[in-house]
Amino acid sequence: MDLTATFIRMTVSTAMNAVKTVVAEREWEQFHSEGNLAKSVAIEAGELLQCFQWGSDFDADRVQDELADVLTYCLLLADKLGVDPEQIVMQKLAITRKKYPVDKARGRSAKYDAL
Ligand SMILES: [Mg+2]
Repeated sequence: MDLTATFIRMTVSTAMNAVKTVVAEREWEQFHSEGNLAKSVAIEAGELLQCFQWGSDFDADRVQDELADVLTYCLLLADKLGVDPEQIVMQKLAITRKKYPVDKARGRSAKYDAL
């Protein structure tokens, strides 16, 4: 593992531990079924999208807050499912790299089956 990967792992781990501490201190685990967490990801993604609802101007602080909410629920869902967030992202990127080879996909937004 290179230094960048080590740093990312430490950052995700630090954030995960902090989120879990906040939840545990408040005894909120009881509300965190897989379904409730998945719904919360989508709800917070909607709030993030709302920041851009009426045009290209947006409140950067509000965007940051909503992005943090999305990431927080993603971390909680990954933990609930017993999966490592960094590992599943890296696995999915490996699939994406195969589906979208650089020589075919560079600078293009076409779906993999239309490259
Ligand atoms: Mg929010």
